Amino acid sequence: MSNFEYALAPESTAILNIAPQYGLFIGGKFVDSKSQQFFSTINPATEKVISQISLATEADVDFAVASARTAYNKVWSKLSAAERGKYLFRIARILQERAREFAVLETLDNGKPIRESRDVDVPLSAAHFFYHAGWADKLSHAGFGSDPKPHGVVAQIIPWNFPLLMLAWKVAPALATGNTVVLKPAETTPMTALLFAEVCQQAGLPDGVVNIVTGDGSTGALLVNHPDVDKIAFTGSTSVGKAIARAVSGTKKSLTLELGGKAANIVFDDAPIDETVEGIVNGIFFNQGHVCCAGSRLLVQENVSDQILEKLKHRMSQIRVGDPMDKNTDLGAINSSEQLARINELANSGDAEGAERWSPACELPTTGFWYPPTIFTGVTQAHRIAREEIFGPVLSVLTFRTPQEAIEKANNTPYGLSAGVWSDKGSRILWASQRLRAGVIWANTFNKFDPASPFGGYKESGWGREGGRHGLAAYVKGGK
Ligand code: ADP
Repeated sequence: MSNFEYALAPESTAILNIAPQYGLFIGGKFVDSKSQQFFSTINPATEKVISQISLATEADVDFAVASARTAYNKVWSKLSAAERGKYLFRIARILQERAREFAVLETLDNGKPIRESRDVDVPLSAAHFFYHAGWADKLSHAGFGSDPKPHGVVAQIIPWNFPLLMLAWKVAPALATGNTVVLKPAETTPMTALLFAEVCQQAGLPDGVVNIVTGDGSTGALLVNHPDVDKIAFTGSTSVGKAIARAVSGTKKSLTLELGGKAANIVFDDAPIDETVEGIVNGIFFNQGHVCCAGSRLLVQENVSDQILEKLKHRMSQIRVGDPMDKNTDLGAINSSEQLARINELANSGDAEGAERWSPACELPTTGFWYPPTIFTGVTQAHRIAREEIFGPVLSVLTFRTPQEAIEKANNTPYGLSAGVWSDKGSRILWASQRLRAGVIWANTFNKFDPASPFGGYKESGWGREGGRHGLAAYVKGGK
């Protein structure tokens, strides 16, 4: 008997209404950029152009910051906290109402499977607005004093791996605490931020409270260096984060950074095997591994490593790679040709340094940017693939003999964003969690997110937290 095959289950893009060209969202309106320079955003699964996006230059950034300042002085800082909260509730509800549109657009622009944008990115984005809407009129009970004050104008720069979700992580707490915003989405994924601008209009948000400027790193740098910005929130690579930290030092600007990671996912020999294998797959292949907290270093206890690897390879053979718009797809497109080149370069260094590569047989589409699910075994701590963030569907497998060795290997990294522990024993999980230097530690699960739970890193993974009461602290003066 031949294998049962999945029927195609493509999501339609008919719900979208994409303009051939977009301006900048400043002062509550879409306006032409002063520079009249454009760049294309493409669908990474097909390489087809989606739209032409404005490249904001100095005059545009000045205009956006001035509009955020005016909105702060004249409107937003004068509103009661309960009124601010109402806008956030409204935005949250509109995100839910337009969820399908957002999910389809996110998948089109980013390449992630529709199943993930539909079930993770968009619902979590709405959840962030709901959560922070609830905080808006309760800030005096949040432990920041009786009358916590916002910074004023906040510049927010976000990456391409979770475009709408990172926008929500940034915009929701900023507005809830009474700041106004200039946000710059990543150059390869501006579409859902531009659709969010429409949501702001639909919600009747006062003009200039949220401004969205599109562009590349040069636009980001203009925002960072703008003298009338009070606070900067950045999520992206550690190298750009360091440059921003240098640019801001010595100024009065407040700064939070959410940067890279190289998380250890530690499997002890008493871990439940099947659940663990699912967790490993989710840890590294979710969102094509374009996840700063991905479980990209598997540390498995030596006496169970053969068994785990055998099951893992079997499970990886079931991963469906291909059209992100198909509801059966597990692994979508790599976001850009640049990112694909980075993944290739690092994976090739794994071969050159003597690790052993394995991928299941899988046919990759001929156009677009693709990478098969891949593991490297025989990896040592010295290999680049054990130390550097690959940001792709590539897992480096190391083994350990004693729990102490696992902790030492896990902590032997410049990063410290997340970690996973798999064990049947609660005492072992607590023992390990107390010793791991990581901002988020998952026990017998991985990549779970909740707006109430603070997220952020140690060491080169960043400064500050996002989400929860701790995340609010970054948006009020003197907040801790
Ligand atoms: P990645 O490697 O994930 O693409 P980047 O750190 O390069 O991450 O990009 C994250 C965000 O930072 C993007 O919106 C990008 O345009 C912006 N960016 C890049 N360079 C700079 C810079 N020098 N200053 C401010 N923002 C920047």
